Amino acid sequence: MKSIGEALRSMLPAFEPLGSESLAVDSALDRHLAEDVPARVDAPPFDNSAMDGYAVRTGQTTEGAKSKVVGESRAGGGTPAPLAEDAVMRIFTGAVMPEGADAVVIQEDVDRDGEQIWFRKGASPRANIRFRGSDSKAGETLLGQGLRVGPGEIGLLVSQGIATVDVFRQPSVAIMTTGDELRELGEALDEGTIYNSNAHALAAQVRAAGCRPVVFPIVGDSEHELRGSLARALRHDVVLTSGGVSVGEHDHVRDAFESSGVKADFWKVAVKPGKPLSFGVGPGGRPVVGLPGNPISSMVTFEAFVRPCLRKMLGDPRPFRPPQSVRLTHPHRHSPRRPELARGKLTHGPDGWELTLHRLQGSGSLPSMVDVDALVLLPAGEAEFEPGRRLQAILLRDETGHIHPPFEA
Ligand code: AMP
Ligand code: MG
Repeated sequence: MKSIGEALRSMLPAFEPLGSESLAVDSALDRHLAEDVPARVDAPPFDNSAMDGYAVRTGQTTEGAKSKVVGESRAGGGTPAPLAEDAVMRIFTGAVMPEGADAVVIQEDVDRDGEQIWFRKGASPRANIRFRGSDSKAGETLLGQGLRVGPGEIGLLVSQGIATVDVFRQPSVAIMTTGDELRELGEALDEGTIYNSNAHALAAQVRAAGCRPVVFPIVGDSEHELRGSLARALRHDVVLTSGGVSVGEHDHVRDAFESSGVKADFWKVAVKPGKPLSFGVGPGGRPVVGLPGNPISSMVTFEAFVRPCLRKMLGDPRPFRPPQSVRLTHPHRHSPRRPELARGKLTHGPDGWELTLHRLQGSGSLPSMVDVDALVLLPAGEAEFEPGRRLQAILLRDETGHIHPPFEA
């Protein structure tokens, strides 16, 4: 049986980024760049004023000196005439600097009467000018490969006139659920049947991880049916199966993997919930993950094992959620035989995150995945955890909200 770390290390190499695709910048949000993006143009593209004021020759701006205003340069107004001798030019933020000027004096630092101004103080050369190429020069690397495209990156790309970017392709992830007891949403439930919640929960997890879920019809507990469905699922970049990986007579996933050419790497991981987690590599190197059927086991193992692999495949150079140190608010007991990934809710205490474990921790209890902020690792070998005990957790939500505003100043 593999440890959590060993299982992840076995899986990760099979999830290499796919090729790239070219996307319009607006569609590239949260994707990762497949190539370095060089700057097309100098930024700023021309010397321009950072303030509303007067373009000047600083040699003529001693305190109390007088000058006359000749001409104007405004944003969008094109290149102004060169600065006249013994004059200043009215200039506005974003406007092109006139030839001959070496600074902008802000309008608050002059007194004006008609076309005359008096300087309240001397100006320093280069003041209030945004120089061409001072942010970046044409040809320089603007954004590096692997970078995640966020709003700032989109703004920068557009400022350079770049309309499309090459990003790593989004994996399509086949989701196969197995079990004679499963019914689709909308169907009537007869005795002993349940809704196929895993297909929907997993599809949501795949989407939240940034990939494209492809949900397959429910597969009954027959090796023949499973093999047929697996053959179709293996046309996708990743295959996730759910259920049928235990060792009961009606668990056929293992046989179906073998007969479909999926080379199994492991069948069990020392983790609770989720011991019957399996992994193999199918024809063409396609990763195939056999998730346990229990709804909580399926979701928890997705978070702990599959999500980082999918993030890696998307080209994310930092595919793991960051570990967070949390303190338990209440005492807790667990079975010390396996490490446990328990679910809880976070609050912010004087000493950082505090975690209240969910009342329900069973692998089939769907309410225990409702309003969950974090998965916390309860190590093996210990049965009792005292309040205040520090543990390692991962936050499941990118934004775990706070009820108070963060800044008062
Ligand atoms: P299995 O791994 O097939 O032995 O299933 C373990 C438990 O999870 C059983 O109680 C199943 O009924 C339940 N289960 C399996 N697949 C699903 C599913 N797709 N949605 C909801 N529950 C499931
Ligand atoms: Mg089953």
